[in-house]
Parts: sequence; C-alpha cells; structure tokens
Amino acid sequence: MTGRTCMQCGKPLQSDEIALHRRLFGRGVTAYRCLDCQAAYLNTTRARLEAVIARYHETGICALFAKWDTKGGS
Ligand SMILES: [Zn+2]
Repeated sequence: MTGRTCMQCGKPLQSDEIALHRRLFGRGVTAYRCLDCQAAYLNTTRARLEAVIARYHETGICALFAKWDTKGGS
C-alpha cells in the first residue's frame, strides 16, 4: 500500500504505478495516475505499460524499480 490514489479515477496505487509515472512524467509531479489511466493518457494499452515495468524490474537499470527476485506480494 502506498497511501496514494489515482488523480483521475481514485483507485489505490501500487508502487510500480507511481514509479512508472515518475519515469514517464517526471519526478517533480506530485499527483499520479493508475496504470489504466496512464495507458489512456498515453494512448497505449495497460499491457504495454506492464511490459515496460517488467523490463525495468528485470534489468534493474532504473533505481525507481526494485529488482525483482521472487514473485508474490499482494
Ligand atoms: Zn486511474
């Protein structure tokens, strides 16, 4: 739980959604969108954004994304 909600639909946000938002829209932004709203805003699909998140996790190149070790969590 991040305690933050999507500025558009009010859905609770996952840390990955915030990390991707920072990556795409800049770290100075203080209001975030969920993955669905980011996809709609960017005129892309949620699946594509999920693939981007997965890539960052796998490579570990972006400090905003913790490198994945095991599947699980919520
Ligand atoms: Zn949303």
